[in-house]
Amino acid sequence: MCGPSGVGKGTLVAAVRARLPGVDLSVSATTRAPRPGEQDGREYFFVTDAQFDELVATDALLEWAQYAGTRYGTPRQPVLDAVARGRDVILEIEVQGARQVRQRLPQATFVFIAPPSLDELRARLVGRGTESPERVATRLAVAESELACVGEFDVVIVNDEVDRAVDQLVELISRSRAAGSTSAPVEGTHEGEA
Ligand code: 5GP
Repeated sequence: MCGPSGVGKGTLVAAVRARLPGVDLSVSATTRAPRPGEQDGREYFFVTDAQFDELVATDALLEWAQYAGTRYGTPRQPVLDAVARGRDVILEIEVQGARQVRQRLPQATFVFIAPPSLDELRARLVGRGTESPERVATRLAVAESELACVGEFDVVIVNDEVDRAVDQLVELISRSRAAGSTSAPVEGTHEGEA
């Protein structure tokens, strides 16, 4: 699942998991500092630059990317283990990382969560109050470039009404389960590291 910072991915994922059993959320590693209320191991594994280098060097990440000055990556093994146990795993990541996942887990479904408009996104980012004005500006610039990539995704969901967006996600996962498209983990090549 991709979508600009502030679009509400976290809220949607929590609501989907409350409605559908068997859905895990991958916990990423990041070099950014925790926001107030974030806990190590829950929202993210908060790591140092050196620790992140080590994760990359040991090929422990399914994908990773630089975003707004910090690095983020998906620990590989928990995702593969969960898929092998027949669970669905949501990766809440940015677009460069999603491209790597497409190469390595081509059976994944790629969903883009879009804001109703950039003005609305700006209002949400400012209202969240977690970012400085400079960081809001950086995130909006990244958002614009991410919105230009929507054509790469299997499904685009506009988060104008949370309940409707959650319904769409629940239906998507249910349909994909019925089609059995999540049942055969095939990991592709590790080439083309970012
Ligand atoms: P935030 O700092 O707002 O939590 O996240 C910033 C961006 O990084 C969001 O677009 C989020 O989806 C993305 N992100 C979070 N974890 C990962 C990850 O493991 N890999 C990649 N590629 N992006 C991530």
